Amino acid sequence: MPQYRKDIILDEWVIIATERAKRPENFREEKIKINNSTPAICPFDAGNEQMTPAEILRIKSNSELSEGSDGAWQVRVVPNKFPALVRDAEPVSRKYGPYMSMDGFGIHEVVIHTPEHITNISSLERSRLSIIIDVYVKRIREIKKNTRIESVIIMLNQGKEAGASLEHSHSQIFGLPLIPPVLEKEIYGTARYFKQNKKCAMCAIIEFELSQDRRVVYKNGNFAVIQPYASRNPFETWIVPLWHDPNFENIEDAKIDDFADCLKRVADFFHAELNEPSFNYYIHTGPLHLEDYNVNYHWNFEFIPKLSIKAGFEIATGIDICITTPEHTADFMKQSSAFK
Ligand SMILES: [Zn+2]
Ligand SMILES: [Zn+2]
Repeated sequence: MPQYRKDIILDEWVIIATERAKRPENFREEKIKINNSTPAICPFDAGNEQMTPAEILRIKSNSELSEGSDGAWQVRVVPNKFPALVRDAEPVSRKYGPYMSMDGFGIHEVVIHTPEHITNISSLERSRLSIIIDVYVKRIREIKKNTRIESVIIMLNQGKEAGASLEHSHSQIFGLPLIPPVLEKEIYGTARYFKQNKKCAMCAIIEFELSQDRRVVYKNGNFAVIQPYASRNPFETWIVPLWHDPNFENIEDAKIDDFADCLKRVADFFHAELNEPSFNYYIHTGPLHLEDYNVNYHWNFEFIPKLSIKAGFEIATGIDICITTPEHTADFMKQSSAFK
């Protein structure tokens, strides 16, 4: 059973999940294994559906929704076989000396992007990305019905340096019984900005960036691709909705294609111009059952290529040092055919 443990110095939870556990002495060996790992049989390929836990959602070839039926498919959602969190635990905290712990309650699902053995999202069609985004929306709306789940994080790890353990293109959905620290910081930070300026910080960023055209790489009817002013990583890329909404899952169907358009162009850019480095992407959507942050929180998507390593200073201080300027990377990106 995974477990939350409270870091009482930082007042933050940590998850201890040993479902994939290796004995301590096996970590050296594991590093070598990961480097040559191409499994002979991929559990995410068409024909190997029995290798994953029972399916939660399937998008059939004709794009109709179906739960647990047979036949050809485009996208499947399954529970993670090695979950960092489990559904059948009680989110009750226990004291242990000065510490606190809690059973690892939560939801951990895998979105399999394609029945073919495709390893890069840049190889997926824009229409497939639209389906994947639509699946994210459907899953959050469903998970939201569970009032014990306070927040949902959707994320993708592509490439070894980004932490991917299976190369077949997939993303992950986490439902948590708490608000994770990064989201909490964004909520507090934007609440403080709102109090001082009577304005949503992201709306202020969008308004200013569109008027400046320095760090805006691309824009369509509903979204902009920008290099953030206070960038923490080289080529850190945001896809921001141009309308104010705290929650991604409120998105109207008609806007999903515009999001997929931006995501496809970002993926194509990193593939064509930078040889597709490992990356993480994630969607930050507001807390599921709180409403007092609605005016200040603006959902967002971040794509972080692994082009630099966080070193001692960053880890010790929490202050990131970015070795490029977002103005410079924005100029470079705008020249790419991916954004024409
Ligand atoms: Zn595969
Ligand atoms: Zn806003």
